Amino acid sequence: MSFENLRVLLHWDKNTWYSLGALAASLGQHNIDFEIIKGNIISKIKGTLKDGYQVIYSESTRNMTLPRLEKHLKQINNQIQSSNFVSIIGGPQATGNPAEILKMGADIVVVGEGEVTYPQLISNLFESQMDYSLFHDFPGIAFIDKTGSIIITEERPKIDLNQFCPYSSDSRFAIHPPIELMRGCAFRCRFCQVPYMYGNPRFRSIQMIQKIVEHYIDHFSPLKESVDIRFIAPNSLGYMEKKRGVPNFPVLKELVDQVTSNEVRLFFGTFPSEVRPEYLNEETLSLFEKTTNEYISVGFQSGSDRILSEMRRGHTVADGLRAFDLITSQHYIPIFDFILGSPSETIQDQWETLDLIRQFRGKSKVRLHYLMPLPGTPWSEVTPVPLGQEILAEIGRLAKSEIIMGEFNKQMNFNNVKSN
Ligand code: SF4
Repeated sequence: MSFENLRVLLHWDKNTWYSLGALAASLGQHNIDFEIIKGNIISKIKGTLKDGYQVIYSESTRNMTLPRLEKHLKQINNQIQSSNFVSIIGGPQATGNPAEILKMGADIVVVGEGEVTYPQLISNLFESQMDYSLFHDFPGIAFIDKTGSIIITEERPKIDLNQFCPYSSDSRFAIHPPIELMRGCAFRCRFCQVPYMYGNPRFRSIQMIQKIVEHYIDHFSPLKESVDIRFIAPNSLGYMEKKRGVPNFPVLKELVDQVTSNEVRLFFGTFPSEVRPEYLNEETLSLFEKTTNEYISVGFQSGSDRILSEMRRGHTVADGLRAFDLITSQHYIPIFDFILGSPSETIQDQWETLDLIRQFRGKSKVRLHYLMPLPGTPWSEVTPVPLGQEILAEIGRLAKSEIIMGEFNKQMNFNNVKSN
């Protein structure tokens, strides 16, 4: 199909750009012309409409980008009145709470994965002259129909990662995010969107990863001194696991051996991925000998066993401490994630977490989070417990001693703004 006179404008944001690689690749496959845009979206939309195009504007959103999305949608709805324009919003926040995004003024929400839904939706919009009011049978979306009802259509089957390319090699808008190793998770932590949005884990095969790595080498070698390979994975050591909680060491080793046989620097189990503490043992730690890791990121989440159990983490404080000993014994630096503010957390639980963090000083880093109730999770409606002055003062002291990093203050402010 030729999509002449149709232009898709994808908004770039530093918090959500990873998803643009896969979306742009899907659009490219369907010969749908797109632009990645930053800055003043209104003048870009107006200009493209004035040039005679039908325009689809899209943004991916997560909780922290909601205020910006709201501002954009307000501007769009105040200033763009054209039957040749449609906004489509996707991402974890939109998937978890499509009604909220529609009420903010989006025309259509993509609910769930975008690789198949998004280009098909654009194709259907093109054929229907941008009229989506009868898309009731189109799976994986939400919209407001002519009667004013919010329609959420049937769920779309999850994709096979091996069938989809995660990067855009378009010469005008090349996007090469970290390579998504797996999607979904076998655990069901109550605060986390991953399992509720993506279900059980699906894996990209080693052969596909090798092909992608080869492309990254071709792309980055002329541009950079070294080609760095990073993965997106909620638990890198869970790659290709056959049984939840049991690392598949032979396959993990094959993956690391295969990737590091190329001229690349491999960063494994570190940002933007992490590992669960109980997956670390002497055997899995040996995988890091071939990588370029200085750091290993571990989800520890609380210094209180009671809170770990409330979170449904499926590991204990002792598992986290064992991971700390193992990682530091091999001279890597652990980066631990911790969350404060869980619904039933007491001051005692909070001190248990801060006492642990204090113990790690000089040997580890900590990404401290304040609980963000995310849509679609069992904790979507909870109110994070407020933190007392003494706890906040201790967090301030730990931040000064440079063990704590992350967006803790931003997350606290975000929650306060939402609850006011
Ligand atoms: S926090 Fe990690 S282990 Fe827990 S459900 Fe989310 S991705 Fe899985």
